[in-house]
Amino acid sequence: MIKPTLTLSLLLFMIAAPLLSQDNMALPRLRYSENISLTYDEAISFYARLDSIWPEATLLEMGMTDAGRPLHLFIISGDRVFDPQDIRRKGKSIVLINNGIHPGEPEGIDASAQFAADILSDSNSMKRYLRNCIVAIIPIYNIGGTLARSPYWRINQNGPEEKGARRNNRFLDLNRDFAKQDSRDARAFAEIYRYLDPDVFLDTHTTNGSDHQFTVTLIATQPEKMHPGMEQFFRNDMLPGLYSSMITRHNNEIVPYVQYTERGEIKAIIGFDEHSYYSTGYSALFNSFGFMTETLVYKPYPQRVEGTLQFISELVRYTAGNSKKILRLRQEANRRTLSAREHVIDWEQDSTRWDLVAFHGYRYEEATSPITGRKTGVYNHDRPYTDTIRYYNYFKPAVTVRAPEAYIVPFAWEEVIVRLLANGVEMRQLQNDTTLTLETYYIDSYEPARRATQGHYFNSKVKLRTVTQEVQYLKGDFIIPLNQRANKYLVTMLEPQSESGFFAWNFFDSFLEGQDWYSVWGFESHLKELLDRDPILRAAYDKARSEDAELAADPVKQLQWLYQHTPASELEKRTRLYPVGRIMGS
Ligand SMILES: [Zn+2]
Repeated sequence: MIKPTLTLSLLLFMIAAPLLSQDNMALPRLRYSENISLTYDEAISFYARLDSIWPEATLLEMGMTDAGRPLHLFIISGDRVFDPQDIRRKGKSIVLINNGIHPGEPEGIDASAQFAADILSDSNSMKRYLRNCIVAIIPIYNIGGTLARSPYWRINQNGPEEKGARRNNRFLDLNRDFAKQDSRDARAFAEIYRYLDPDVFLDTHTTNGSDHQFTVTLIATQPEKMHPGMEQFFRNDMLPGLYSSMITRHNNEIVPYVQYTERGEIKAIIGFDEHSYYSTGYSALFNSFGFMTETLVYKPYPQRVEGTLQFISELVRYTAGNSKKILRLRQEANRRTLSAREHVIDWEQDSTRWDLVAFHGYRYEEATSPITGRKTGVYNHDRPYTDTIRYYNYFKPAVTVRAPEAYIVPFAWEEVIVRLLANGVEMRQLQNDTTLTLETYYIDSYEPARRATQGHYFNSKVKLRTVTQEVQYLKGDFIIPLNQRANKYLVTMLEPQSESGFFAWNFFDSFLEGQDWYSVWGFESHLKELLDRDPILRAAYDKARSEDAELAADPVKQLQWLYQHTPASELEKRTRLYPVGRIMGS
């Protein structure tokens, strides 16, 4: 038993020693221009060093991740106020930047470190942005993936030399985990999100697929998901402002994320339908202006980091310059969220509406692979072109639900309650066993996926029936009023038709299995006594058999018929009764 202990303490010492000595060393050098990305330890030491040099910066540990290491949050505040409540009181907006969610896509890890060093040292007079806003950075979100470094992840990507793995230690893709939050990482993120309540949110990525001349492509929250004031501002002001300042200030034109309509030459781009399990879908639930940068995998790494850095600078500059308006619009949206009753839980693309965008592409040519002989296509860099193409970025509601005044979630559903709490949901518990008359759902049909995704057999195509009835609840069950900041999150997670919700992700599946029923052999021996005791039941049974030839010919069906006509079947009505009740207002 002694040997493992010794080995472990030696290991701890070896890991801890270089970190401890960092404090007296110079700022670690960023080497993205040499095609080298920060390791996890280097990134954390970099921010720790900034924290020790600059009083305007602080590095915090926030929550645990599946890697067994805490999530870090770095906050830059011009007047050294780091508490989000105090920051709000001072009328400043908050930008949150999340990096390394897919550690094979590390541009944001290097770009954010460079940005933090630049703004703190007032490079290009950037410090003035901090008069109106503060910047918070998650240096590396997927810690487990970042630690699993190799040159071979994302094998067709143009650098850096080594990069991390896409999935975390539980093999979860964290950019599918924002709603269901199976990872500790996602629950720690939710706590950070609740703590900061950021006005503007950015998640940094790299994309593959088609090739074109742009380095940076951009996913922005679907504007329709916002309240009208925010939507107008986003479509007409913020997005055009960011697109144009990338050209005027950096000579680096960017384009919406290239989700193409057909392979080959890009004929049109479709807007990204971001469900709430993606980062910007999640941020939209809390009325933030959300963005994902997706730099193009084929461009050299230094260029991709520079592009991401430029976008971060422009986003912070724009937010600082429009801080009052952003704060006012969000305040108005948050106020409307408290009382909104109609909620869209699913959207579909509106193919009748589009904008036109300039697209700088490369001509696509048929080719044969010299290695495998496979027929393929190449984007010919010697034949660049510019065209004006359609960008289909309008969506219309596909499923709208009317929110109740409150939901009730029985105490039994612990996994659900834990997640609601992590997201700052306010709830109270019943003090006594109580019978409530409320709106309930029966799940009439649904389709579970045949293959697992993220460890779940996703339920879709949900058909349900609404029944108002009395239901018995127990002391300790949770009443969740819909008058809170998390309203949109609650409707998204608790409505069974929502693709991001707990029902879709199998949290409630056990209720679908039914309960007691009867044993065919045992029930048979009770039948005579049951029918002798209940002449009305006997008469109904005889009548049913005489009118239904199929029933008369099938003994098993007759057993079913009899069971369903005894009071026992009353107890079975909980089968397929969705456990979350809807308390409707008057
Ligand atoms: Zn990604």
